Amino acid sequence: MPDLIKLLPDSVANQIAAGEVIQRPASLVKELMENSVDADSKNIRVIIKDAGSSLVQVIDDGSGMSETDCRLSFERHATSKITTAEDLFAISTKGFRGEALASIAAVAMVEMKTCLHDSEIGSLLKINGSKVESQEPASCPPGTNISVKNLFYNVPARRKFLKTASTEMRHIINEFQRIVLAHPNIRFTLHHNEKELFNLPPTNQRQRIVSVFGKNMNQNLINIDTETSIVKLSGFTGKPENARKTFGEQFFFINKRYMRHPYLHKAIMDAYENILPSEAIPAYFIFMSADPASIDVNIHPTKTEIKFENERIIWQILNASVRESLGKFNIVPSLDFDNEGIIDIPPAGKDPVSMPDINIDREFNPFRDEEYYKEKKRAFQKERDFNLSGWEKLYSGLEGSEQHGKPAGRQDNDIYSDKESRGPEKIFQLRKKYIVCSVKSGLMIIDQKRAHERVLYEEFISALNTDSSVAQKTLFPKTMELDQSDMAMISELEEDISRCGFDVRYLGNNTISINSQPSHSMNEDPREMLEIILEEYKNTEKKPGESNRDKVALCMSRAAAVPYGRALAIQEISELIDKLFQCKDHNYSPSGKPIISIITLEELDKKMK
Ligand code: ADP
Ligand code: MG
Repeated sequence: MPDLIKLLPDSVANQIAAGEVIQRPASLVKELMENSVDADSKNIRVIIKDAGSSLVQVIDDGSGMSETDCRLSFERHATSKITTAEDLFAISTKGFRGEALASIAAVAMVEMKTCLHDSEIGSLLKINGSKVESQEPASCPPGTNISVKNLFYNVPARRKFLKTASTEMRHIINEFQRIVLAHPNIRFTLHHNEKELFNLPPTNQRQRIVSVFGKNMNQNLINIDTETSIVKLSGFTGKPENARKTFGEQFFFINKRYMRHPYLHKAIMDAYENILPSEAIPAYFIFMSADPASIDVNIHPTKTEIKFENERIIWQILNASVRESLGKFNIVPSLDFDNEGIIDIPPAGKDPVSMPDINIDREFNPFRDEEYYKEKKRAFQKERDFNLSGWEKLYSGLEGSEQHGKPAGRQDNDIYSDKESRGPEKIFQLRKKYIVCSVKSGLMIIDQKRAHERVLYEEFISALNTDSSVAQKTLFPKTMELDQSDMAMISELEEDISRCGFDVRYLGNNTISINSQPSHSMNEDPREMLEIILEEYKNTEKKPGESNRDKVALCMSRAAAVPYGRALAIQEISELIDKLFQCKDHNYSPSGKPIISIITLEELDKKMK
């Protein structure tokens, strides 16, 4: 038997390793910007061509590199940021693995010009697919200018997997935002195909957020500031009435590094309990600092999750600070903290921070126009009523029954005893969520939102495929300000959503107006509807064999469907049931969730034994 094992050539090994670090053009933006930040730059310019597939260029005025370092920086595990294993516990830079440049050079064509500040002459290095083509002296300003061209030119399979330009741009903008928000003292610009998307002068934390997300954000921000021996928190959290249904304005940073943290996200959501409209997520920008030894960043290079030593305590500190700030903003009877902004660390295992209720002043909202505010207020009240659940609520949920003059609460008996008949009086809405009706075999329960999604979905599909447009309900135009990445997505969706009856116009300055919405939409707030469409679109993966139109129809149907918590008149209920049973598939919602469940008499009988 011959020996079979060979060592892979470096270029192949690098390409494989690159797959872990460089997944798409946005990864280049992240790695190169981080290197520039680590090099103490004051100005960082990012230039993109064709959503990063032809060019990602980052120009900085940081430390620059010597001729030797310039060459070495492309070797795997070459880093100036750590030397010993101990250093791993005190990382204050973004990078430390020394993998990014080696990975980038393995899958693209790279040119780097760099010059130290006290040096007369710099160095120009060209390297393609891990192979050094040339290195020569060059004159250039102090700092580093790196161009990465034709990403994945030598890995066609990966190049093929790049998504549409607007999707790749959205990822790039996301990475860009994560870095610029953490470093307000650095000037950043971002250009795409010669167009300037961001120009962010050095400023304070609040202004940086506002220059990234638009001036409306300014009135939305409530200050957070808490210092404990375990963690220091600063930043902002959004006013509940401005919370959107979409993710995109939620940011955690630890030691100036962006992180995702679903557990700490819950700490914030918990602080907003009962003061948010349903499904809304408040904006937040939380900057934490903690001893690097107490956090573990040494995880997968592309992952943004970070582990903390004291996660449970940090949860409590964060939760308490957000509550405190929300309370202050409402000038509510003040909270139980003795020291301004300083919280005693609660011992683990106990729950000593007891929080008084926070009553949000629902009248307070100088920022929205009158009509929008009234809508929000109605939603709040509905939501609050819905939350006041007691056992009586079960009966007051029987909207249909009251109309028919029967005492609420007797309905259940009626359905059970009268199993053959099915008239409108045998249908009712339960908890403003389910439609319950008696059928031959037992009790049929229909999820109102999913049922409506299915009905709308089939309507939208047929409108999209026959190029006929769904009748539109015209509105008094509503304007809305969006961020760059949402704007990019709107331009991708515009044509299809307008066929579905949702008409959007550009007003410039990242502002759009919404002029009509589909006539069967049960969502009365077109802005909220658009937010849901965008959010769904971001989060829905196309299934194999599905067209983009299927996806658009799905997102539209989720946005326009009757929400939970909406009382339906008996006519609306029967119309919905009729339409549902005319659908090609009335058993599953467009996203594959069950719409109908039947509890058979046998099952009931069994339960009653
Ligand atoms: P890491 O950032 O993990 O150290 P990289 O592969 O990203 O690894 O970079 C390797 C090294 O190249 C860095 O440690 C740094 O010394 C140097 N370097 C990279 N980019 C720059 C830059 N823009 N300015 C100065 N030095 C840089
Ligand atoms: Mg790096």
